[in-house]
Amino acid sequence: MISPRYHREIPQRYRLEAGRCADCGEIHFPPRAVCRKCGARESTTVVLPNRGKVVTCTVVDIPPAEFDDQKPYVNAIVELENGVRLTCMVAEAPPDAVDIGTEVELIFRRLRCGREWEVLQYGYKARVV
Ligand SMILES: [Zn+2]
Repeated sequence: MISPRYHREIPQRYRLEAGRCADCGEIHFPPRAVCRKCGARESTTVVLPNRGKVVTCTVVDIPPAEFDDQKPYVNAIVELENGVRLTCMVAEAPPDAVDIGTEVELIFRRLRCGREWEVLQYGYKARVV
């Protein structure tokens, strides 16, 4: 079963859609109803760049059950080319291939599955470039 939250977040998870404040231009990811910088309530949808660098990362050896088939993996905070930061898993790389400053691109991948998740969930992960 797909949770309402997962369904609501599909534009961000699938298409990297963020919100740009109509007043000050601040970009929020995920989009916010109220700008955290100036308090404005109007925003437009923008698509984030898919390239960036790892700001920090950690290796996950003992993950939650729904990620168990992917261990060990790296979780990273990635700063995109426009300065927006997000947290994601790094796919298709051994843990020692990822470090601070590693250049990555965001790709569309399966996120999780397992006994408690009857429907596979998809979204973005980083990949070393
Ligand atoms: Zn603003």
